[in-house]
Amino acid sequence: MSTLFPAPDVRTISVRGEDATYPIHRIFCVGRNYAAHAEEMGYEVDREAPFFFTKAALHAVPTGTTQPYPPGTENYHFEMELAVALGAPIFRGDREAAEATVYAYGCALDMTRRDLQVNSRNVKRPWDFGKDVEGSAVFSPMTKAGDFGAVAGQCIWLKVNGETKQDSTLDLLIHDVPAVISYLSGYYHLGPGDVILTGTPEGVGPVVAGDRIKGGIDGLDPISLTIGPAE
Ligand code: MN
Repeated sequence: MSTLFPAPDVRTISVRGEDATYPIHRIFCVGRNYAAHAEEMGYEVDREAPFFFTKAALHAVPTGTTQPYPPGTENYHFEMELAVALGAPIFRGDREAAEATVYAYGCALDMTRRDLQVNSRNVKRPWDFGKDVEGSAVFSPMTKAGDFGAVAGQCIWLKVNGETKQDSTLDLLIHDVPAVISYLSGYYHLGPGDVILTGTPEGVGPVVAGDRIKGGIDGLDPISLTIGPAE
């Protein structure tokens, strides 16, 4: 069956040691999953349960690109995050089942129109304009879970123009990877192609056109993004 107009290409992420790429189905993101970041955003930590927002898969872009400064904002922020890519189905799964679904880990940037996010938050409207931004989900090539090992005290960091802005460790995640997947699987039939951004540590801040972002997590391919002029 033909389509009335060209269907969009599926966005993909490359995987270390694989010729085939990982096609993205959905992108789920955890909010306020490091205590010090929750604090800098003016919130107490919720240790009871994680919460989520989503980004369209079509907003995914690979590391190393230049993305234009997006429209409608004067406060575009970086958020450095551990991305988890699922490789098996899970629905209403426990921690043990959740852990077994992890296919790979990678570095990701959750770029955010902070002014729009905060404005909508303050008037109890959805975050979409702040978070569901074209080109705002940046991914580095992923490393298979078995090659990465356990999520433990690995450093997670981000620099803008060579200056350190974020510097934390993965053991400070409030809701760890199995907890996040298990919880989310209570609401969605998760499976291969579903990617979860696990939240950012403290130190988020603005970028302007010309800025060069670099980030990394011990044991994973680093990530970079250059901010171009507004269109
Ligand atoms: Mn985030």
